[in-house]
Amino acid sequence: MSDNEQQKGVNRFGQNTTTMIPDDAPLARNPGHKLRTSNVIVNRKALTDEEALLNSYKLDKPTGQKIQFYNEAGQTGVIRIANSEEAPHVPNQFTGPSFRNPPQRFRFDGHKMMHHLDRVMAWQNGEHFAPIHIDMGLTKFCNTACIYCYAVVQNMTKGTMIGREALLSYIEDCGKLGVRSIGFIGDGEPTLNPALYDATVLAGKLGIDTSMATNGLLLDMDRAHDLLQNMSWIRFNLSAGTPDGFRRVHQSREENFDLLIDKIRELVRIKKEYGYKCTLGLQMVLIPECFDEVLPEAKLGAELGVDYFVIKHCSDSEYKEIGINYDEYLKIGDVLKEAESYSNGNYVVQAKWNKINAAAESALYKDGYRKYDVCYGTPFLLQISGNGKVYPCGPFFNKERFYIGDLHEQSFYEMVTGERYWQVHQDVQSSVDVHKDCAIGCRQDYVNKFLWDLKNPPEHINFI
Ligand code: SF4
Repeated sequence: MSDNEQQKGVNRFGQNTTTMIPDDAPLARNPGHKLRTSNVIVNRKALTDEEALLNSYKLDKPTGQKIQFYNEAGQTGVIRIANSEEAPHVPNQFTGPSFRNPPQRFRFDGHKMMHHLDRVMAWQNGEHFAPIHIDMGLTKFCNTACIYCYAVVQNMTKGTMIGREALLSYIEDCGKLGVRSIGFIGDGEPTLNPALYDATVLAGKLGIDTSMATNGLLLDMDRAHDLLQNMSWIRFNLSAGTPDGFRRVHQSREENFDLLIDKIRELVRIKKEYGYKCTLGLQMVLIPECFDEVLPEAKLGAELGVDYFVIKHCSDSEYKEIGINYDEYLKIGDVLKEAESYSNGNYVVQAKWNKINAAAESALYKDGYRKYDVCYGTPFLLQISGNGKVYPCGPFFNKERFYIGDLHEQSFYEMVTGERYWQVHQDVQSSVDVHKDCAIGCRQDYVNKFLWDLKNPPEHINFI
């Protein structure tokens, strides 16, 4: 079978045409009416016949490929494997279920709103409802000083953190309200708040999923079991694969790199020994200063035995204080692809292409422009500052117009069922210009796009 090469011609109207019909494909005798090109079409029926379907070796003949049967969920499918290194193009020949696309283990580069349609329905019906997920800081300070840190623009305050009692009663309220997950991910480093561990255990008892993003250096290994038993995932903010890169990007001592690696290695060991489900991963915030660390970290993750290594864009603020030139990302695509090739059955390496490639998009979406005009996502995905103050989203921390309340002064249950909470979300929807007033690529971005599409359906929606 030859490759499908482009065949250029001029049709009966004098217009240029390009077809890709393989030279040796069987052609239909009575193709019906003429197409734009001609009346030459492939006889798809002749590509396979009943006998060929019964004998995989005979299937080699019409396609020039090796055939492998694949069983999954009681069904047999056919996988075609190219003989040559470069796969030949063949006409579409559906011969049963095919399982070429492995299921996606994680959804780093998108959202999961389809799994929470009850809340979406409540929103469409104009009801009040609890957030599906909350990202929450537990402190407003940190023990490292990563050069890409967004929290710096959120006013870091040394020593400030949500108090233990306020945190635990907030967790109780989340259980009462039906919040489904909480990520201890926010302005400050969560392990600096000693109540982290008890809050995690309490959430586990109440059936709330938890997770954490941490630099890991001060993680209390005596409480490792509490975390691994109760958290759905722990993500290490690590944007380097070498001690030198670690010093440069995280502005921390090189010895701390080894300390962190030892802790991650030990957590992986405990997880495996006790069969804990908690996913352990590494996350790099991509900036030009760590481009050379991508491949070393991809290899390091495989060697450590963590579940994933994800590479994400750096969110810059509405004033671009971190100074990211998103065009720089267009130079590193090959390296990111190579990093992804280190994935294996137990280890996923993935770049968040949608956002990393934003600079290659049209003027819309470049430089912070969004694919929607209104932010509807904040009631679904709320963000709380590490000092216990509740705002609709992280980029609006300290913007007092959008301040909802303080968990030290008011219960979270009262807040969510009260007026101020919904007034603020409404204010976001009616007054914020998402193209200008917002951080680039904020956390609610994917959710907002989904909700915008729902709110602005095209005509004829029943013609799916
Ligand atoms: S779109 Fe703007 S208002 Fe909405 S969550 Fe993102 S930064 Fe906040």
